Amino acid sequence: MRTLLPGATIGVLGSGQLGRMFAMAARRMGYLVHTFSPETDTPTGQVADFEVTASYDDLDAVRDFASRVQVVTFEFENVPAATVEAISGIVPVRPDGATLYTTQHRLREKTFLQAAGIPVTPFRRVATRAELDAALAVIGCPAVLKTAGFGYDGKGQRLIKSADEGAAAFDSLGGQEAILEAFVDFEREVSIVCARGADGETAHFGVVENSHERHILDCTIAPARVSPQIARRATEIAESLLERLELVGVLCVEFFLARDGALFVNELAPRPHNSGHFTIDACATSQFEQQVRAVCGLPLGATEQLRPAAMANLLGDLWQNGDPDWRAACAIPCVKLHLYGKHEARAGRKMGHLTALAATTDEALRRVRAARAALTRE
Ligand code: AMP
Repeated sequence: MRTLLPGATIGVLGSGQLGRMFAMAARRMGYLVHTFSPETDTPTGQVADFEVTASYDDLDAVRDFASRVQVVTFEFENVPAATVEAISGIVPVRPDGATLYTTQHRLREKTFLQAAGIPVTPFRRVATRAELDAALAVIGCPAVLKTAGFGYDGKGQRLIKSADEGAAAFDSLGGQEAILEAFVDFEREVSIVCARGADGETAHFGVVENSHERHILDCTIAPARVSPQIARRATEIAESLLERLELVGVLCVEFFLARDGALFVNELAPRPHNSGHFTIDACATSQFEQQVRAVCGLPLGATEQLRPAAMANLLGDLWQNGDPDWRAACAIPCVKLHLYGKHEARAGRKMGHLTALAATTDEALRRVRAARAALTRE
């Protein structure tokens, strides 16, 4: 594919905050953006040039969308394979349908990782209660049962502390195909956002550290407080995955760092990731600009981090007693506010984030936490 220069139109499947920040980066560089999703007045649609509202299964609408753009990328993995196939017949999809197919399903993803010789936590496929009992006997407890497809932010996930909790956990997930994983008593969770260009060039934003609340990302600290050896190992794994997937675009690799220093890959996301939001304010190139560059065939941007940073998510819970106190958070130096334009603040819903910059990661984390606390202080 030839390089798509500014002035070209990029299609985005999905319409959430990742698409919004992608569209902002793309438009800043002079590209046009069309977004496709079943919703209307979406975070992405509000800043795109054109918003298509149709079902992913409406292949006539999908083909019409594809015929008006020069390349398609996505911000949401749970797009049916037939949708991507219909688009691929008209314009390139980056990353491609094969990568999407592997990474949108936990079992396929873990099986791929295992075959690639990448360390993952022990797992078994579970489609019936009997299979769950057999899997629990091998994997032991505690274990985590996750639906194989369509899960995110801890949705479709149950911790099983003892074998007698298995049946209830399986039933509560609707009895659908699932994956049982050994529970990892990790020291910390880390991730790395990397990218591969159309010519095979790669770049990464360094290893960052993530903390979760209720299975949802809460804070990211960049760079991660890990040894250079661990950072190097995580980077090598990420780069080998970019090559193996022949991915063109952005990839996030999430890891568990065990107490003995071992790294296990937990999840892949073939797109910008919540743990890479700090790059907007802290790096020479943001993960979203990198996605624009990669999918358009431009050279990748420099990924150097200019200052230590910390990011804190703003969930809908913060709106419980009315609008948060934006003035108070903005009064803290080097705190940057990002809001996604969502109209309804539901508990657990990602509404925005704050990034703080400082001389050290510890100070950045203190600042971002203080800023978030200030949102709800009396
Ligand atoms: P996931 O949706 O698989 O990324 O899981 C969301 C979060 O749940 C992870 O970031 C972990 O904090 C936790 N989690 C998921 N799987 C495991 C596991 N096998 N062991 C320990 N914690 C887990």
